[in-house]
Amino acid sequence: MDEKVEPFFDEVIRRNPGEVEFHQAVREVLTSIGPVLAKHPEFAEHKIIERICEPERQVIFRVPWQDDAGEVQIDRGFRVEFNSALGPYKGGLRFHPSVNLGIVKFLGFEQIFKNALTGMPIGGAKGGSNFNPRGRSDDEIMRFCQSFMTELYRHLGEYTDVPAGDIGVGQREIGFLFGQYKRITNRYESGVLTGKGIQWGGALVRTEATGYGTAFFAQEMLKVRGDSLDGKTVVVSGSGNVAVYAIQKVHQLGGTVVACSDSDGVVHDPKGIDLELLREIKEVRRGRVRHYAEQRPDATYVAGGNPWDIPCDVALPCATQNELTGKDAATLVRNGCIAVAEGANMPTTPEGMRTFAEADVAFGPGKAANAGGVATSALEMQQNASRDAWSFGRTEQRLAEIMADIHELCFATAEEYGMPGNYVAGSNIAGFQRVAQAMVSLGLI
Ligand code: GLU
Repeated sequence: MDEKVEPFFDEVIRRNPGEVEFHQAVREVLTSIGPVLAKHPEFAEHKIIERICEPERQVIFRVPWQDDAGEVQIDRGFRVEFNSALGPYKGGLRFHPSVNLGIVKFLGFEQIFKNALTGMPIGGAKGGSNFNPRGRSDDEIMRFCQSFMTELYRHLGEYTDVPAGDIGVGQREIGFLFGQYKRITNRYESGVLTGKGIQWGGALVRTEATGYGTAFFAQEMLKVRGDSLDGKTVVVSGSGNVAVYAIQKVHQLGGTVVACSDSDGVVHDPKGIDLELLREIKEVRRGRVRHYAEQRPDATYVAGGNPWDIPCDVALPCATQNELTGKDAATLVRNGCIAVAEGANMPTTPEGMRTFAEADVAFGPGKAANAGGVATSALEMQQNASRDAWSFGRTEQRLAEIMADIHELCFATAEEYGMPGNYVAGSNIAGFQRVAQAMVSLGLI
């Protein structure tokens, strides 16, 4: 890290004790932006770093609800509205037992730059709860979502803050959340949430967008190197919404995904993952990847296994933060992996990133490679605002263009700053510059 930037980072640690994921996310961005400050002295003058590292607003609230047995449960809700220089706060809600303030802040901080890279008018935010949806009935999920929204609604609005899904929050949860928002406010304000069902204001391709976008980004990185996904062996971690549609797009682009995973284990299917079976298990039955292996004679399941031990040309980490370590990166490099695109948020540890950089692996960080989801959320907002509904083909075409533009911006920025091929630096610098310039224009707010 540039020595001029170090004191800012020390201050972030001092002010936010114990929030290790937040520190990690801030460190990654600050490490990249030394040269930007040298070029733009006005950013230091306007205290952009100090301001950008401090959320504009943080809301923490109690979420009381009753389970099916009539027992009262108390969870904690969060919304961190990090930066609204480019547009209304935008970012997902995560329901997972690991959620705490530090996790929400890391995600919200990343979201600022990711959203800036899309070129769409959206600020950065994140929220969620430590509520664990696993094993909960539809009724319990509904009661939880209603209680969560009963507090959160007062902070939202299509011009204020627009949540969407993330881990543990999909169309079902967005439905319950929207229903309660509509009831409390007496407004059919479609643009207040994205990831809605198609029949009630949702946009085609939103479900597929993050996974598709990650595959598009991998394809763009390979294209620059005179290569493509065609004929490649690919390993995807996770089996949620991002993973499923990354697999689908890789297959459409001629690659073969031979493995995916969940928090219990890994399935290896050398002939290629049967997407219809995986979708039926995950989306209809809400099952686990071991159920997939039970129905595929050629597939093997390893409980507690590591997807990165399986040899591949391309790796797409689509599960969660810090799931790909330095050791995993070394294994992937040894096995001949040439490209990594992050479908999840910050899935690769700093050591992992270093290992990939040293081995000249094309590495697309989440801010850039998984921005397709939130970009398509912005397209959903655009359709809601004009009371329009675009076709699947038109929306997917827009998504492909946006991902190609993000790739080009990160690539060109890395070149401009003398770090060719470094998408980490390229994405951090390009995202930071957009937000910083807007913040300077808006004055001290
Ligand atoms: N949670 C997703 C992300 O990490 C999507 C956010 C959104 O669509 O607002 O970008």
